[in-house]
Amino acid sequence: MVVIMNADAPERQVEEVIGKLNGYGFDVHRSTGVRQTVLGAIGVKPDFDIRHIKVLEGVSDVYRVTTPYKFASRTWKKENTVIDVDGLSVGGDELIIMAGPCSIESEEQIEVSAAVVAATGAQVLRGGAYKPRSSPYAFQGLGVPGLKMIREAADRHGLKVITEVMEINQIEIVATYADILQIGARNMQNFSMLRELGKVDKPIFLKRGLSSTFEEWIMSAEYIIANGNPNVMFCERGIRTFETYTRNTLDLSAVPVIKQKSHLPIIVDPSHGVGIRDKVAPLARAGVAVGADGLMIEIHPDPPTAKSDGPQSLYFNQFREMMQELRMIAQIVGRTLPEPALVA
Ligand code: PEP
Ligand code: MN
Repeated sequence: MVVIMNADAPERQVEEVIGKLNGYGFDVHRSTGVRQTVLGAIGVKPDFDIRHIKVLEGVSDVYRVTTPYKFASRTWKKENTVIDVDGLSVGGDELIIMAGPCSIESEEQIEVSAAVVAATGAQVLRGGAYKPRSSPYAFQGLGVPGLKMIREAADRHGLKVITEVMEINQIEIVATYADILQIGARNMQNFSMLRELGKVDKPIFLKRGLSSTFEEWIMSAEYIIANGNPNVMFCERGIRTFETYTRNTLDLSAVPVIKQKSHLPIIVDPSHGVGIRDKVAPLARAGVAVGADGLMIEIHPDPPTAKSDGPQSLYFNQFREMMQELRMIAQIVGRTLPEPALVA
């Protein structure tokens, strides 16, 4: 931690700050410049609240030089983490495409979606059986019958399954049917659930909270890892800003920042990130170009009648076209994407 004293801070204040730092267990290195005194506080205290020092008399600024997270950090593990999802590697050279409807609505709807997802070369089928909806009157998901539908459709087409778990008491049943457990934006800081996810033997897909900083997001991953589950991937899904023309603001800076700070994979979700169908493909291309390990895309056989998120869901033909474009960009950035089936 670095403490910068005010230019006019009297010696008494400097000594008081040093005393406090020592009291908290830090060794202090003092450097007295012509105008200002700078204190270097040495000591590994990841949970120390720097405001204890910021509020002291004569202190101008305080900076943390170490991160409050450990297992999720690039400092702790230099090489990229590659997560094994039942034989599929997430975070390696292969670009991972997770696609499907926002909600599982019927056996037929998820079956036709799975067929298209598989035919384009995408690897993971998405679809929610438990839906976090802003309105209690909106479709809440099919629950367990939905989980069965998505598992069966995925198995028929050789796909993996990702689906959302909203509550602690759903973890067990969702883990029975899914290959990856999705934690929605609204649950990113549900700390009691994060702790439970640490005990699960399935990879976790951690969406960024609507107004979460990168540090808060990484700390949530740290919760899961510290509780025993090292297989966490991030998902940038857009944040709340003052903008009203789009549903959210897709923060693509998340990709290089997370890649620098953490060794865990990161997936981009342009569907929720922008919320408007015709903007999804351009942002998906940008996501691949900026170095994401994969994408999450909402598609629907008939978006205008979708029970949730229809306006941001791609028509099947738009999805096929987007996959072709992604293939070209993937090649440029050194990623591979499985070839599409001959009959899509
Ligand atoms: C979803 O993936 O359908 C979803 C509800 O996502 P988010 O938590 O990002 O809103
Ligand atoms: Mn959705």
